[in-house]
Amino acid sequence: MKIRVAGIERESVVDGPGLRFVLFVQGCSRRCPGCHNPDTWDFDSGQEMDTDEILEQIKITRLIKGVTLSGGEPFEQAAACALLAERIKGMGLDIVTYAGYTFEELKSKALDDVNVKRLLEATDILVDGSFIAGERDWDATFRGSRNQRLVLVRQSLAEGEVVRAAAPYCPGKKPDSPKRKN
Ligand code: SF4
Repeated sequence: MKIRVAGIERESVVDGPGLRFVLFVQGCSRRCPGCHNPDTWDFDSGQEMDTDEILEQIKITRLIKGVTLSGGEPFEQAAACALLAERIKGMGLDIVTYAGYTFEELKSKALDDVNVKRLLEATDILVDGSFIAGERDWDATFRGSRNQRLVLVRQSLAEGEVVRAAAPYCPGKKPDSPKRKN
């Protein structure tokens, strides 16, 4: 399956717990003021890749704990991101997904869109909500602004309300990657 990609970071420690392979998808319609990556907004920019090619790159990347789907907006390419997330889980790796949507918005969208449901259910930690410049916080672990949450998706779906992750191990590095979103 084809997916529009803004970039790949094969080894990151600032986009979720542990060493992670990060896929930045291309395209986001939300246009948050102060977004770190406005170059990822245009759905016609970036490059088209095949999901199999991305999976091969992940397979040969050693020592990673998991894969982070960031952007751009992964839920606006939900079919391809869901396929990737499901296959990556099959490799024994975990999934962190950054979304401009909140968990509650995605749960509602999932009722009408099976691919949103698949991606949500394949995600271990959802970093949810748009970046809000007025709530910027350089010390918020793996997040850009205080309104964003680290949502444990499986537990939240089971309990019917947001269950937040306790602050995971963070090496203290500032979230200053030029490709970091949200
Ligand atoms: S912060 Fe995230 S959701 Fe908002 S415009 Fe940028 S990429 Fe899109």
